[in-house]
Parts: sequence; structure tokens; C-alpha cells
Amino acid sequence: MLRTLLFMVLTLSAACTQAPIQETSIGIAEENVCQTEVFKVDANFSAANMASCAVTDPRTIEVLLKPEDIPINPSPWYAVRLTPMQAGPVRLVLIYEEHPHRYKPKLSFDGVTWSALPGDRVDAKASGYRVTLDIDLDDRPLFVSGQELFTNEAHETWTKGHGAKPFVSMAQIGASIEGRPITMIRTDARVDTPKTVMLVGRQHPPEVTGALAMVSFTDEVLGDSELAQQFRDKYDVIIIPNLNPDGVEHGHWRHNMAGIDLNRDWGPFTQPETQSAKSVIDEIESNSLALFLDFHSTRRNVFYTQPIGADGTEYGFTAEWLARARKKLPDYVFDRQGSHNVDLPTSKTYIYERFGIPAITYELGDETDRTEVAETARIFAQEMMQILLEQE
Ligand SMILES: [Zn+2]
Repeated sequence: MLRTLLFMVLTLSAACTQAPIQETSIGIAEENVCQTEVFKVDANFSAANMASCAVTDPRTIEVLLKPEDIPINPSPWYAVRLTPMQAGPVRLVLIYEEHPHRYKPKLSFDGVTWSALPGDRVDAKASGYRVTLDIDLDDRPLFVSGQELFTNEAHETWTKGHGAKPFVSMAQIGASIEGRPITMIRTDARVDTPKTVMLVGRQHPPEVTGALAMVSFTDEVLGDSELAQQFRDKYDVIIIPNLNPDGVEHGHWRHNMAGIDLNRDWGPFTQPETQSAKSVIDEIESNSLALFLDFHSTRRNVFYTQPIGADGTEYGFTAEWLARARKKLPDYVFDRQGSHNVDLPTSKTYIYERFGIPAITYELGDETDRTEVAETARIFAQEMMQILLEQE
């Protein structure tokens, strides 16, 4: 069973992480650094997060972790780099101010291949606000992070890979507050009045497993299988993989640069990132959108859906989709939670209110095995395509 791979090696698909982790270009190279004669801790790279640090002794450095603003969801992201002056054991102490430790530490020398720090090297104490990590350094710098670093550059590399296909077009649909591009990739059906499926991702930067699911799901839909080709003949496919590039770059826990939770801005559309998504949605013919999926992560695998029997389809897409996937994936543990809250301006609420179609938040567990994330997302993509083709 996939889930028994406890301390798995996590390898982001080669296509999405050819690039090494980038140094941040702001000229503060020595600002966010603590150094002893044994090792150095810094946060001067993309997706890093460390508010400040302090040396306790030559082999121990404390790292203070703070969110970009408060109040905020309990998604206490961290990412730092340890650079050895001497090989040997060191201790990193994570100190949290707002919310206790959540993400199990992941380690990587190259930013591509990651491994989980074994549980017996992590002491989260009772409260979880002070966590010690015991780490053995060799002679290489080591990233220590709440999840694998899935940077903007990795998103871009992956997106361009699809964008280079002859049947995929790529467009910048807007820009973040700091001017980073919001990119869309899409395919256009061959029929005259196609239906549309839309995927969005990375509204919440730490939710890496959701992003990994979005990658595999998309790879399947834009892949070479006969099913995918038939599907793309009939359906337009629109994908906005990375809606919060500023948050990703700065290692935010949740928000954009204005302190806004983007997945609470669908309806108000006060932010350039959500406005870019709305501009795409406004171009979709009012009766053509068939399905909307928004990829996230939480503490378990769960699909947030419309209430049972109320997804706007007569045949019950959501129930059928999840049932077929469950049959194919008997070992994949996931829940369905149905609700519709008109006062919660999420993408799910907005799309359902406007189009009356299944609008589903596809959530992966923080620690769901990465092979399982990828393999199950492909099955969910296949079942989605199969069902929607049957409805043609
Ligand atoms: Zn989320």
C-alpha cells in the first residue's frame, strides 16, 4: 500500500523542478542570517520564511517564525537553509508565535529531491510552539522546509512545458501586486459549442500537496492518452496553476501582499490576482462551464463539494466522480464534505452561485504520500474526463 511508505523520498516530477532554488535578488544577503563556527542559517532564497534568528551555542540556532500578518489561518510555513562550516550534528529550534507546528520538516540538498526528517529527530514538546530538529550536516548546504519548495520558477518551468505543445496556448492574464505574471494555459476544443473545464491552484502558498495534485491532474488531461485527446476535442480546458506568486515567493502562510486571503475574495474581487481569474471567467460563455476545480491542502484528503444531490447536474457529477474514483482507488482514504455557504466568498461558492455547476475544492492532506498524490490525481482526472464525455 502506498501510504505505508512512511519516510518517503519526495521527488517533485522532473518536469516541474529543473531549476535550482533561486537566491532572492534583494540586497540583504547578510540581514537574515545567523552564523556560528559550525553552521549558518539563512532565508535569502525563494519561498524562504524566517522572521529572525538567534545563536544559542555553536551547534544550536533558534529560528522565530511569524506570519505575514494576523489574523491568519494556522498554516505556519517555514523554510531556511543550513550551510555547514563543519560536518556534524546541529540543532535547529523553531519558535512559533501565532500557531503551533504543523508541517513535518522536509530536507533537501538540491531543492529537487526531498526526504522527511525522521520523527525521532523532531521534538515538538507539548504545546508545539517550540520545536527542536536534530539534523546531521555533511559538507553541503541543506534546505529545511515545511514542505518541498515548489517555487514560482518551478511553476513556470512546468507551465511552459505544457505551453510548448501545439494544442496548448499560454497567456498572461494579469499580474500580482508585485508584478509577477499570472499565467493561464488552455486548450480549445474542435467542436462548435464546446463545454469548458477550469482548474485553479496555489491560492495558498504552503499548500504544496494541492499543487502537486494539480500538476499530475493537468499532466493527465493534457497528456497523450486517447481519452485525453477525445476529451480535449469536446471540452475547452482552462488552467490557472499559480494564483498567488507573491505569496509563494515570500514564503507566506496564506495571504497575498495586501494581506488578503485570495480564496475569500471571489465575489468582491478586490485583488489583482482574483481579478485576473475573473477576467478569464467572464470570457466563458455563460452556459458552457461544466466543472470547476480548485486545488488546496489541509490536514486530510477531502473534497469540499456542493451538498449531496445539489451540484447543479441532473445526473449528479460529483457523486458519480467520487464513487468511480473510490472504486479504482480502494486504498486512498478521502472524505466528501458537502456545503454551500453564500456568505463565504470562496471560488467554490462564487462559481456555483454564478453558473450552477459542480465547483469543488480538491484538498490533499499535508503529509499524503507524494506518489499517492500524483497517482490518485491521474485517476481522478481520467474519471472526470470519462464521465464528462459520457454526458456529451
Ligand atoms: Zn487552501
